[in-house]
Amino acid sequence: MNANPLTLFWEGFTVEPYAQIAPQVLLIRLRPGEDCHPCCSGCQQHCTAVHDTTIRRVRERDLFQYRVWLEVPVRRVRCVTCGPKLEQIRWLSGRQRLTAGMVSWVESLVRLMPVQHVARLLGLNWHTVKAIDHHRLAREVVEPDRSQIRRLIMDEFALFKGHRYATVVINADTQQVLWVGEGNSRQAIRPFFEWLGPEACAQIEAVAMDMNTAMDLEVQHHCAQARVVYDLFHVVAKFGREVIDRVRVDQSNQLRHDKPARKVVKRSRWLLLRNRDNLKAEQAVKLEELLQANQPLMTVYLLKDQLKELWYAPSEAEARRRWEEWLELAMSSGLAPVQQFARRFKGYVEGIIASATYRMNTSVLEGMNNKIKVIKRMAYGYRDNDYFFLKIKAAFPGKAR
Ligand SMILES: [Zn+2]
Repeated sequence: MNANPLTLFWEGFTVEPYAQIAPQVLLIRLRPGEDCHPCCSGCQQHCTAVHDTTIRRVRERDLFQYRVWLEVPVRRVRCVTCGPKLEQIRWLSGRQRLTAGMVSWVESLVRLMPVQHVARLLGLNWHTVKAIDHHRLAREVVEPDRSQIRRLIMDEFALFKGHRYATVVINADTQQVLWVGEGNSRQAIRPFFEWLGPEACAQIEAVAMDMNTAMDLEVQHHCAQARVVYDLFHVVAKFGREVIDRVRVDQSNQLRHDKPARKVVKRSRWLLLRNRDNLKAEQAVKLEELLQANQPLMTVYLLKDQLKELWYAPSEAEARRRWEEWLELAMSSGLAPVQQFARRFKGYVEGIIASATYRMNTSVLEGMNNKIKVIKRMAYGYRDNDYFFLKIKAAFPGKAR
């Protein structure tokens, strides 16, 4: 039995008497183990000749209430193959100022809490913590298999404060995030297609995206075969913003003289825009009362439900029929915001009809917006897009088909 449990931890070295260098800080001095020859970091050969030795101070994991620093004599060996070379220490890589154990401790913690919390908890600089996490992500994020990609989803999201955007490309079949890049213009997404390469581009069948972007032009340019599909999530959100919300505001203005009714309409935004299936029983009752009392709101609400049906058509012919029916209802609704939306929507209708052939599960987009918010919070304080984008990729590794 070994009298000193600390000798368990640092392979190739033995432990000398420690020193307490501050109230909560221990310094543990190591000495090269007697029958361990150092290993050349170039070729992994054991070497007997030592060129020189430098003492390095590195952080180890905490021990009980103490921060632990190690003093490690690191040798440069005189390798017969490589010449003078740093020795290889399994638990301390390269010029790292933290032991491998400490690094993997940081990696575990930073999965669970924001970078700045980990930094504070361990008494490390937050750049150090972020760099470790960045490294881990680069190691763990799997390069997608380009030959398997057939259907894509493209979307944009806001970067940290300000009006800059980034674009994300997702494999619709596996829900893996394939690519994230700054900007949302045609030029901004070009690097994605360059990465994808002409062979994989030629195999793309369909690309789902929001209306009102220039991305469709870029898709068509690289993937001649691909059909552009406008996804339900974005169109319904747009209908909510541009039609339902507009009508709600108009209605509440018209109710100027009926204060209680006005208040109900004015405060109904959330109720109207929320997916009906996500409402609690009492909220559903409230919604029903509101719609019964207000004909224009009832009309736009029903039009929203019917609009969704376009995406569930069993064939393109049926989708077209549903669209024409919807258009007629919209135009005869007598509501200007509805008519305006319908007129503009006409130009995009082929992209919705195509969804009858190319069913795409775009529900990933809803989850993504929430996850991005969490990631922003976890990486608070950084404006490092590389790191941010890697985190998004890591959060959506995709699933096997
Ligand atoms: Zn060597």
